[in-house]
Amino acid sequence: MPTSTPRIAILGNRVPNLDLPEFEHFADLGSLLAAVAFDVVLLDLPAAYAGRVLRKLRSASSYRYTLIYCCRDQDGWCEALGDGACPVNASEIKNFWGAWRERFRLFERGSGPERFESRVLAWLWLRDHAHIYALRDPQVPQHYRYPLLDALADNEQINSFAWLSLMAQQDWLEEGVLVDRVRLCSDCGSGRLNYIDVCAECHALDISRQPSLHCFTCGHVGPQESFLKDGVLLCPNCLNRLRHIGTDYDRPMENYRCRSCQAFFVDAEVQARCLDCGLSHTPDKLRVREVRDFRLAEAGRFRCRQEFSDQSGQHFGRLNLLGGKDFYDLLSWQIQVVRRHPDPAFSLIGLRFVNLAGTLSHLGEQRGHAFIDSVADRLEETVRTTDRCSRSTEEFFWIMLPHTDGKGLECVKQRLSRVAELFSAPEVSDISLRVVSITAPHDLLDQEDGELLLARLAGELV
Ligand SMILES: [Zn+2]
Ligand SMILES: [Zn+2]
Ligand SMILES: [Zn+2]
Repeated sequence: MPTSTPRIAILGNRVPNLDLPEFEHFADLGSLLAAVAFDVVLLDLPAAYAGRVLRKLRSASSYRYTLIYCCRDQDGWCEALGDGACPVNASEIKNFWGAWRERFRLFERGSGPERFESRVLAWLWLRDHAHIYALRDPQVPQHYRYPLLDALADNEQINSFAWLSLMAQQDWLEEGVLVDRVRLCSDCGSGRLNYIDVCAECHALDISRQPSLHCFTCGHVGPQESFLKDGVLLCPNCLNRLRHIGTDYDRPMENYRCRSCQAFFVDAEVQARCLDCGLSHTPDKLRVREVRDFRLAEAGRFRCRQEFSDQSGQHFGRLNLLGGKDFYDLLSWQIQVVRRHPDPAFSLIGLRFVNLAGTLSHLGEQRGHAFIDSVADRLEETVRTTDRCSRSTEEFFWIMLPHTDGKGLECVKQRLSRVAELFSAPEVSDISLRVVSITAPHDLLDQEDGELLLARLAGELV
């Protein structure tokens, strides 16, 4: 039977101004790892050392998801892998841990995060406001790394940047702050580039900036020193004396000179030489990459709740939900059919549970789930076996009703009002249900496919 007080370990020095009734103190990481895993760990160590300890703890399966706070200053590694500064008192730690533990229990009961993807999503979901932070690191050829992904990868080879953009495309993660924009070798992907000026004519490296003059009489252009003779300016070509700038001569724009081909030119050409593979590229051929922090998106949070707590098909699982893309495809196909053969019609209902996410987090995980269960019950009574459903986020729910015309649609909508009755209880009264519906082909717009139709209807639900 788990107690409601977390077992706390402190690594490093004892924390002087923290009111902790009970904790165990460890002087080194080895003895902490040898003990039975603690619920919360406080690191009373200087930032650089705390960062290294966090890397080790996050790669150990017993401390992968644990709340770990840093009691002293923090560096980038601490921010990326830890849970921030240490709360000021024991009751705060207890509260944070209480919320964490509620989710962790669901997650332990659930299928278990064997895949890298689920491990990362679970880590983020277990803590509020968690980010995947990018960290500048001169050791890596791309200049930036994501310490959390590296730690959770175990021994899998992960391409962090590719993985993150895939996750963002699928809406599980959303982009946070733009940290930097880096340019990478288009051949080997390294960011260790040396930008060099080369001759615009022959691309030789050996060029120099050289003040030059332009004689108006004969048009000769040459280095300034070749015009200097016994302290006066004299054109080396036509031997005319150059007295007045603007009248006799001027300074041409061309002030680079190539020592290889002797050409004069205005702007040197820039090349990026990759220090890793040795190839040269013009700057516009380099791969540009934005480096960002990431956080769990609404759809990702929703997926975690589903995946980690819906074992044996509870909740909305019973409704045979189709994923976004499958639902779009099915809808697009139905639209094509109904455009050719208008009879029988089909209908589509969109529901939006306004404030559902916020209310669920007020209720806490357990009561929130009980409530979601009752909503799913009512929906199940409404939906017929031939209907198909999809949820695009926590708040949006779609029902496609094949062979259903306007009249049939009205019956279903009447049954749906039973769902809205659930939101009359005071603790959930913030939730309201918005409904939108269409019958195809009558209400379809020109050229509309499944995805466009859902986007239009979602707009009406906002
Ligand atoms: Zn040249
Ligand atoms: Zn001249
Ligand atoms: Zn390269």
